[in-house]
Amino acid sequence: MSVTVRFVGSGDSFGSGGRFQTCILVDGPASRICIDFGASSLIALAQQGIEHNTIDGIVLSHLHGDHCGGVPFLLIDAMLAARRARPLTIAGPPDLERRMSQIREALFPGSHIMTPKFPLAWVEMAPGRPHRVLDCTITPERAQHTQETNPSALRVEIGGKIVAYTGDTEWTDDVARIAHGADLLIAECYFYDKPVKWHLNYPAIAAHRHALGAKRVILTHMSREMLAHAADVPEECAHDGLVVEL
Ligand SMILES: [Zn+2]
Ligand SMILES: [Zn+2]
Repeated sequence: MSVTVRFVGSGDSFGSGGRFQTCILVDGPASRICIDFGASSLIALAQQGIEHNTIDGIVLSHLHGDHCGGVPFLLIDAMLAARRARPLTIAGPPDLERRMSQIREALFPGSHIMTPKFPLAWVEMAPGRPHRVLDCTITPERAQHTQETNPSALRVEIGGKIVAYTGDTEWTDDVARIAHGADLLIAECYFYDKPVKWHLNYPAIAAHRHALGAKRVILTHMSREMLAHAADVPEECAHDGLVVEL
């Protein structure tokens, strides 16, 4: 079975390199999911000719706007112009539903009175154990990032393949666990050599990647400083629209 991964958005929070915020579309044999859904994701999907009504599930690593901020825009369009009928599952860290409704109300005051006509399910995933979401098995592990975002790294098993995604985090043994034997490890690589709290830089990835046993590694979430060095590293670097077959 083949699984397709598309980097709809491969950028950091701040538009470095003109890239869209994190949005990774994964097509498995039975479902289409999006790993993270930054504030710019509806624009990125539209630019790449992808109808958001075709997405069955959204899986969120943590509650920073560049990873989850597109969800309110999708929900409101789904309820209004896009007239969604297809069920939608949104999975993410503990307290997901309450926090996302706060974010939606902050961005669209008064929108709490709107209720979806399509089936909408929220799945809050405690770290450290597998969760069934659509036809995927997702194991979140605790990440070392801004604690208020309930951060996690994600191991996604879909169609017999394993896609591992660090989310935003420093390197830890928990993060290493998601990547073991993965068909694809998607690693945030915020800086090339500058040490930075709560994120990975290139030396941290280079020091650990060979011990992981991941078959393929793609770097994403790059700052201006890292983008300037993308050609200097042997690892593949994502760009918006990059499509990978596993
Ligand atoms: Zn981020
Ligand atoms: Zn973050």
